[in-house]
Parts: sequence; C-alpha cells; structure tokens
Amino acid sequence: MIRFNDILEKVHPYLTTEDIAEVTKAYAYSAKVHGGQKRYSGEPYLIHPMEVTSILADIRLDKESIITGLLHDTIEDTLATKDDITRIFGEEVCALVDGVTKISKLKISSTFEKQAEDFRKLILATGKDIRVILVKLADRLHNIRTISHLPEERKRIFAKETVDLYAPLADRLGIYWIRTELEDRCFEVLKPNEYDEISRMFNSKKDEWEKYSSEIKSLLQSELDKFNLDASVNTRFKNFYSIYKKMIKKNLDPDKVLDIKAFRIISNDIASCYAALGAVHSTWKPIPGRFKDYIALPKSNGYQSLHTVVIGPFGDKVEVQIRTEEMHEIAEYGVAAHWKYKIDTKERKKLIDLPESVKNIFETQTLSDPREFIDAIKDELITDFVYVFTPKGELKELPIDSCVIDFAYAIHTDLGNKCSGARVNGAIVPFSYKLKSGDAIEIIVNKNREPSKDWLKYVVSSKAKSKIRSSIKSIVSKDSEKIGKEILSKKLAKYGLNIADPTVIEKLKVFSVEKKLKNLENLYINYSLSKVNIVEILNCFNLGVKTNLESKERNYLNPNNAIIVGGANNVMVRMANCCGPIYGDEIIGFITLGKGISIHRISCKQILEVDSTRLVEALWDNTYDLKSTTSLRLYCNDKTGILSEVSNLIAKHESNIIKINAKKISSSKSSIYLEILVKNAKHLYEITRGLDSIPDVYSVERLLAPNSEFNLFEKNSRI
Ligand code: MN
Repeated sequence: MIRFNDILEKVHPYLTTEDIAEVTKAYAYSAKVHGGQKRYSGEPYLIHPMEVTSILADIRLDKESIITGLLHDTIEDTLATKDDITRIFGEEVCALVDGVTKISKLKISSTFEKQAEDFRKLILATGKDIRVILVKLADRLHNIRTISHLPEERKRIFAKETVDLYAPLADRLGIYWIRTELEDRCFEVLKPNEYDEISRMFNSKKDEWEKYSSEIKSLLQSELDKFNLDASVNTRFKNFYSIYKKMIKKNLDPDKVLDIKAFRIISNDIASCYAALGAVHSTWKPIPGRFKDYIALPKSNGYQSLHTVVIGPFGDKVEVQIRTEEMHEIAEYGVAAHWKYKIDTKERKKLIDLPESVKNIFETQTLSDPREFIDAIKDELITDFVYVFTPKGELKELPIDSCVIDFAYAIHTDLGNKCSGARVNGAIVPFSYKLKSGDAIEIIVNKNREPSKDWLKYVVSSKAKSKIRSSIKSIVSKDSEKIGKEILSKKLAKYGLNIADPTVIEKLKVFSVEKKLKNLENLYINYSLSKVNIVEILNCFNLGVKTNLESKERNYLNPNNAIIVGGANNVMVRMANCCGPIYGDEIIGFITLGKGISIHRISCKQILEVDSTRLVEALWDNTYDLKSTTSLRLYCNDKTGILSEVSNLIAKHESNIIKINAKKISSSKSSIYLEILVKNAKHLYEITRGLDSIPDVYSVERLLAPNSEFNLFEKNSRI
C-alpha cells in the first residue's frame, strides 16, 4: 500500500521545503475529509488521491498540481467546499480542483461527433489550464488500474469512455506511456477474448523473442560502435491494443503482427541520429516507403524520431526508431516533459512550451462556436496523415483525405483564397481528388477567385475550413459595410455633415473607439445591422439635436378617451413618439411641462431616464377598440410581387395600410417601410408573424421599439 513518504521521496528532488510543507498540509487535509470513506475494493479512500498524486510526482508536476492530486475528489465527494479549499490552499489550487471536479461531472458519449463535443466541454471545464487535464489523466489512470473492483456494467462504460476520450487526449498531449496503459487496460475489459489471444501468443513467444532480440541488439550495437556512435539500443514492445488495431487494419493474424520486431536507438544528438540511420541502412536493406523522418517533420503533438523498417539478419522485418534522449523524453512524457523543462521559471503557466496540437486545442478562438471547435478538434484527433510535396520539393503533412484546397491553405491563406485548380503530378485534378502520399502538387491561381461555400464539401483540414468560413463572412460583411456607410452618409447629410469630411471621420473614429468597435468599417457594419443607435452617433457631433425633437403629431386616434391616467379618463394625453404604444401594450404616463401626459410603453428607454416623480400610472380603457397606427420595417429579397404579397397579407388580417414604400438596399435586397392600422398588440403580433412567414421576407421589425435604434428625427423610415 502506498505511503505518503513515497510521494515525498518523489517530490523531494524538485520541490522546495516550503512547497513540501504545503503538500504535507494537503495530505493531512485530504486524510481528514476523506476519513472513513472506502473504495469499491474496500481500501481506505485516501489511497486513491495518494496514488494519483504519486503519478503526478512521477511526471514531476508543480506544487499546485501535486496538492490538487491530493485534493481532487474533496469537493465532489466530501463536505469540503470551494471556499474551504480557497481559504486553506489558495485560489490557484481551488481552480484546479474545481476544474477536475467539473470534468468528472461531464456526460460522455461515444459517437465521434459527440466525442469532439465532449472534448469541447472538457477543455472549457479546465479553464484552459493544462494541469487540470494532467490531474484528470492521472486520476483516470489509477481508476482504470483498479477497475476490477467495479461492478461489471460500470466497468464497460468506464473503459469505453476512457478509450474514446482519455486515451486520445493522452495521445494528443504526447504522453505515450499513459496512453498505452489506458488503452491496454481498457482493451482487456472491452475485448477480453481478443486480449487473451494476444496475451497468450505474446507469452508463448517470449523466450524466442528474448533470445532473438538480444542477438539483434548486440548486432546493432556493434554496427553503431563501428561508426563510433555513442548510442544505446533498446528493445521495444508494442502495446497489446496497438497490435490488435494493426491486426484489424491490415487483416493479419496476431502472430504475424508479433513477428515484427521493434528496436529503439537513443543517441546523443540529432546528427548522430542520422548517422545511426546510415549505419542501420548500410547493414540491412531498408524497405522502400517505410522510412519516416519525424525529426525534420515533427508530428503535431511534438513527437520526433526517425522510423525505418529493414530486412533483418534472419530475413524478417525489423522496425527501428532512432531519436535523441530529449526526444525520447518528450515521446514518453509529452506535455509533461515540456512542463519539466520550464518548471523553474516564475510565470511557468505562460511560458510552458506546448506542442502545436495542444495549443490548437487550448488556444483555439473557436471555443464559443461548437461547430468550428468540433472541426478543429476532429483535426487534432486525426493521427493519419498524407505526405505531399510542394513544387519546391518541400514536404507537407496533411490530414488523410485532404484535397488540393487543403494543400493550398496549408501553404498560404492567399494561395487558398485564390485557388482555382491544381495539377497533381502534372495532371489537372478536380477539387474532389483525395491527395496521396508522394503527390507533387502545383496550385493554379486566379487572382479574381474568391472562396466558395462549395469548397467546404471537399476540405477536411480545420485550417482550410476556418479560412473559407471567415472569407465568406468577410464578403458578407463587406456588403453590410457598404450599405451601412451609404445609409449613415445620407443621415449625416441631413444634419449638414459630410461623411468624407476629415473632421467628421475623426469624430466617428472616436465614437467607434468609445463603442469598442475596432474601426470605422466595423461601425458601418454595426450601423447597417442596427446595432448602433443614430442618436448616439449624432450626439458626438454636439448638434444639440434634442431640441429639434418636437415633431408633428402623427396619431390617427384621439387617445384621450382610451386611456385612464391615475384612475381618470379624459385626461389630455398623447402618444409618445419614441416608443409608439398601441392598444394592449403595457404603458405608463409621463407628466410633461404644459403638454399634458405623454404615454410611453413601459419598456421605453426614455422613461428610464426621466424624473420618476413625474411618472403616473396609465391603463388602457378596456372598452377602447379603435385602431392605432404602428410602423414596421421589413427586409426582404428584391423580387417582383413582394409588395403585393405584403399588402395582401395585411388585408387578410383586416388591417389597413396607411403608408408603404420600398427601397432597394443592395442588388438583391430591399427594405419595405410600412405604416398600418392595428387593433391591439395581439393583432399586431399576428400580422408580424404572418409577414415573417413570407419566404422572401427575412426580418420584420416594429419601428420605434424601445430596444432597437429608434429614430427621433425622421418618422417615416430609417432608410
Ligand atoms: Mn478521483
């Protein structure tokens, strides 16, 4: 049974005395809160956090992670609270423990789509701190090691989840030994017969294999010595699960897979790696097409090594991997190895040198967009690649099934955007062509070309996908920028402001900054989308526009009889222009100076800003059944017959049109301004719903509504 001293011995070489005191405190705390709890095995619960911590200490994680290992189940399984953890161990530890707890609560599913979605949830739960995942992996590893104590049903679910989610995650983080152990232990649970078969075969060949491998080892060693290379040779065992996968993939018998012998040469530096490769190849014939140079071209999880397969001295295939000590460490420990190298620096969190694939997962901008994130993650889960050549002979790694567009984007965004075709090995190919390893690709460029939505059908790499999407988005936003600028320019012209005037531009820029819009273009786009209020824009020119506000009455009804103010009707009221209440709206009265009571919708923005002592209760008289006017704006496709479709619909709802006019806003789009008579809010709702259901209408908006930009200056239209 593990003792706390075992952990202390492991952390002693790299933690300070103060750190160790805190670790000890965490141990005491964990022992106290888990006191009396038992695992399925009947052992004291405390064994589990200790074993987890011991794994973390093996990969030499920092003090906070070690403490988190000891505390990782306290929030979920004991009476300890986040506040307790923060108070005793600080916020950093609490955030880590909380992250691990959140991951434990995730519902994990098994389809690939869902798996990617689970990854997203998982990454979000970590708060983007990689240490949370490392603790979780250690937790899972120990749970899997002791899985035999679980009830049968839970065993399988647990193993499935582990092999679907945590093993690939360990692989992505490059922690080879955790990945293989997780895989093999789950394999044993999920496919017991296959596991037994491979295991029996393996054991039966063990003696033979050991004899053989020591011969090969000494042969290799003496070859290396001949070349004066200081390198060591190790035999390498494949894990059972990867033997199984190879069996399935290549349709081989297990003994055939087991016949492939694997060795590893560890040398001092990169030059000796290539020299060792030369020694191997000059002794035994390499098998063509099986040499891979992951030193010059590291895998995206940071893995580096030379791989080759040769025909060995007894005529059988021998796999050889050649790498430096440091590469070996990274191959075994992955992210954790990177961690170790940086552990002495103060701001280790920022300095940790994550491999590309991990960065992609953690730093992806698309966390908030599930679909894009899933695409990105899918890419990261891919372990199969094709290797193709640029016209200059450079090698590129692309996910399997990539097309020429993926290739073009992998080289350069512009090349992707302007890609109009490609030659592969000299022949023109369609976009649907799937690249094969060894293809030499030349992209044909057309500078007028723009990315098309159709491309998304062919591309598989997340880079190509996101570049195509963002390019399509930017084409759309160029349209709205143009429209926004045009409308705003007309608006400003009415106030004597020229949008091209440098002082006007300067003011607009200042306004953009205040509004946290990146630039003028963004202001136009937001304006066209009604996300910016014209009043706010005009206010920055100090026009004193508010005094111009009083404008002609537009009410078609005499509301004096229809509204009860402060319990009495026949009070002089008028409908406020700012929010245009209609019968049925919730309303409130505002006592104006000398102009009676103005009636606003209760949700009106202006009402929020007035002196509340001047507000007075206002209610509709239920007997009131006159019609009142309201204005709508529709955006729609510019299509003949759209106006008659709109007016027919309004007639069908027994409403009358007071005003209607349409305006083209782009080559294919129009806006329609409408003033109609409606009975009440319900009636209006039915009409807008009807308008909305016309296929060519894509938005219906009630103008002068409190939450949209309302126009205090022009009544008829905002266009
Ligand atoms: Mn646990």
